Amino acid sequence: MTLKNVFVFVVLLLSASVVLAECQNKRVKVQVLGSGGPELTDGRASTSYLIWLDGKAIGLIDAGSGSSLNYEKSGAHINDLEFFAFTHFHVDHSVDFPAYIKGSYFTQRTKNLYVFGPEGNKLMPSATHFVDGLFGEEGVFPYLNSYFSSTKQSSFKVLTKNINLTKHNKQAIYKSDDFALSAIPVHHGPLPALAWRVDLAGCSIAFSGDMNNQFQTLPVLANGVDILVAHNAIPEAQQGAGRRLHMPPSEIGKIAQLAGVKELILSHRMMRTYGKEAETLAIIKKYYQGPVSFADDMDRY
Ligand SMILES: [Zn+2]
Repeated sequence: MTLKNVFVFVVLLLSASVVLAECQNKRVKVQVLGSGGPELTDGRASTSYLIWLDGKAIGLIDAGSGSSLNYEKSGAHINDLEFFAFTHFHVDHSVDFPAYIKGSYFTQRTKNLYVFGPEGNKLMPSATHFVDGLFGEEGVFPYLNSYFSSTKQSSFKVLTKNINLTKHNKQAIYKSDDFALSAIPVHHGPLPALAWRVDLAGCSIAFSGDMNNQFQTLPVLANGVDILVAHNAIPEAQQGAGRRLHMPPSEIGKIAQLAGVKELILSHRMMRTYGKEAETLAIIKKYYQGPVSFADDMDRY
C-alpha cells in the first residue's frame, strides 16, 4: 500500500466511525406522556417519558398519574415495552405503574419486563420495596403476584433492581442489542433519586428527574447528549422547600452549557412556573445558547 493509499484508507475509516456515532434521529423519539408535576390544577399528566426506537415504544422513564391514558393515546404496544426506569417514587412519578401491569394481563405478552429504581431510605421505598408493597403476597394487589414471583406460573416476569446511590458516578445499568441505560444519583432533598440516560441508534437522551443539583452529577451523565429533559419545577426566586428539592432556571442553564447538550426540553411544569416562561428562558439563555422548548403532553422530539 502506498502512502497515499494508507492516507485515503484512514480518512475512510474515520468518516465511517463518524457516521456510526451520529444520531440516527429518524429512528429515535422521546415522547412526553406527562409534562406536569403533582398538582391537580395544571391540566397535565404527571411525569412520564416514552422512548421510541424504530416505531416501537421500548421504555418508560417514570409513570406519573395520567401517563397510562397518554400511553394509550400514543399508540404504543405494551408488548414492546422492555423497561421502566424510575427517577424516584414520589406519587407524581410512579402511581400509574400498576395500571401497566394489569393492562399487560389482557395481551399476549411473554417478554420479561425490567423495573429499575433507586435504593430506599426512611422516606421512600426502594424499587423492590415499591414493587413488593404493590404486588407482594402481603401487598395491595396480591392477585397480580404471579408476575413477580419466581415460583408461580405466569406468561412473563417483572424483574426489579435497586440502583446503588452511594457512589456519585455514572453507572451502566442495562444493555440490550439496541440500547443502553445508565444512571447517576442526584440530590432531591432528603429523597433517594436518580437521573437517567438512554443511548440508542447513535442518539442519547438524558432525564434529570427531580433534583436541585447539589451533587453536580447531572453534567457528567448528560455529557454531549442530543436531548436533555430537565425539570422546570421552580422559578428563579423560589426559596424554602421548593428550592431544597428542585433546581432554578439558572442551574438548568449551567448544566446544559457544561454538559454540551444539543437540545434542552423543560418539563415537570408547575403553577409556580406558569406565566414565567419568558423569564425562565432569558435566564437559561445567559448560560446556554442551544434550542430550548417547554414540553406539553404528547410532544415528540
Ligand atoms: Zn419528586
